[in-house]
Amino acid sequence: MIDGIKKNLYFRQRYIMYGITTILLFCMPFIKINGNHIFLLSFDHKQLHLLGVAFDMQELYLMPFLLILMFLAIFFMTTLAGRVWCGWACPQTIFRVLYRDLLETKILGLRKRMENRQLEPDMSLATNKIKKAIAVLIWVVLSLVAASNLMWYFVPPEDFFRYIQNPLEHKYLFIFLLGFTIALIAIVVFIKENFCIYMCPYSRVQSVLYDNDTIMTVYDYKRGGEVFDAKGIKLWKKPEVPNAECTGCEACVKICPTHIDIRKGMQLECINCLECSDACTKVMGKLGKNTLISWTSPQSIEDRQKVRYMRFKTIGYIVAMAVVFTALLIMSSKKEDMLLNINRQELYTIRDNARVENSYVFLFQNTQKETYDFYFEVENNADIKIKRPSKPFRIESGEKSKQVVVLYTEVNLAQDEQKDTHIPLNIKAYAIGSEKPIEVLRKSVFIYPPSRALHK
Ligand code: SF4
Ligand code: SF4
Repeated sequence: MIDGIKKNLYFRQRYIMYGITTILLFCMPFIKINGNHIFLLSFDHKQLHLLGVAFDMQELYLMPFLLILMFLAIFFMTTLAGRVWCGWACPQTIFRVLYRDLLETKILGLRKRMENRQLEPDMSLATNKIKKAIAVLIWVVLSLVAASNLMWYFVPPEDFFRYIQNPLEHKYLFIFLLGFTIALIAIVVFIKENFCIYMCPYSRVQSVLYDNDTIMTVYDYKRGGEVFDAKGIKLWKKPEVPNAECTGCEACVKICPTHIDIRKGMQLECINCLECSDACTKVMGKLGKNTLISWTSPQSIEDRQKVRYMRFKTIGYIVAMAVVFTALLIMSSKKEDMLLNINRQELYTIRDNARVENSYVFLFQNTQKETYDFYFEVENNADIKIKRPSKPFRIESGEKSKQVVVLYTEVNLAQDEQKDTHIPLNIKAYAIGSEKPIEVLRKSVFIYPPSRALHK
């Protein structure tokens, strides 16, 4: 192939991206930072791991920030570069390339030419039936690996490989694994690109995010000549207008995995894979010309100017993402060392006309990786003492403990003859013997009866 043409092809970058995405998605569940995963949503341990920080379910106040950030990132990416995710990093596209191009075409020769994706194999031939069966069998194994990979983001590999040795105790794991595997086989082998066109929710919302400056796969109708009229009706195969450069070879149409003709203009079905651009680069390159299909914006084709990356919409998304990301960092830095919920019980109990008791239920959770003994103290009032529990209690790593707590005072704290006195409490709970302090502060209240109640 002529060097100049080779240089302008996108396929090499595309395959590199596929490789990077596959390695990243496959390896990420095995990477740990401070004993935690980069991303893990464990229903088993009721934890979310994010960039090496573990959050318990009670700490999921970060979830809205994460979701907002994720949606803003999708809006930004789509406004800037259209369906770039679909063509360059989406696992469905990678799976289709692996199955259709590598397995069916390159290895088994079931499809005759990579350049023609419109031509389905002749399944009336016995050899093709055998090749298809082999391709599906290999894909079943690969689907099982891919489904396991997906599961590792919900059941970490260290648990996954232990659980699969006890299938009867982990039935749901097997049901999900089997479900994902069957779904992958159905989508990749039978549904094919129809998934991208009709089923993927992302393709439904993207069109509202596009504008004229969005980068996408664009046919240069000024050079190539109009092939479709304004209503989308095909006028001719090769434009019959003076100086039109399109040869009408339809190499761009035949290679398109979603079976569209990009010369018609922007279409929802286009996944931005740029295979048509590569096909046209080869055809036009032989004529010493540049491709008629490029990755640019419709506006830049219109006015022959550079693509406008920085515009009101994209800057707006960048600012919004920066604000949400900062809020996320601030919120995650407030992550507590342990969890404690305090619930007051009945009003108060008076004993021997002098001692007043208040009871509470403290719900502790040890979110650390080690087991500790825990206890607590009333920080701001030396007159209020702990009756129960009388000594520290042990909580295993990740476990919860419900403690019935009774606080009392023998000092007269009444401030009113008729009304109860509400005494604010600052309670500090802590782990005993930890290297770094593990503690939380909570506010509560101690209710002292009116003086007349004590004198009865
Ligand atoms: S590959 Fe290029 S020259 Fe051939 S039909 Fe498509 S746009 Fe025209
Ligand atoms: S039109 Fe081109 S970029 Fe769009 S899906 Fe078809 S081959 Fe890929």
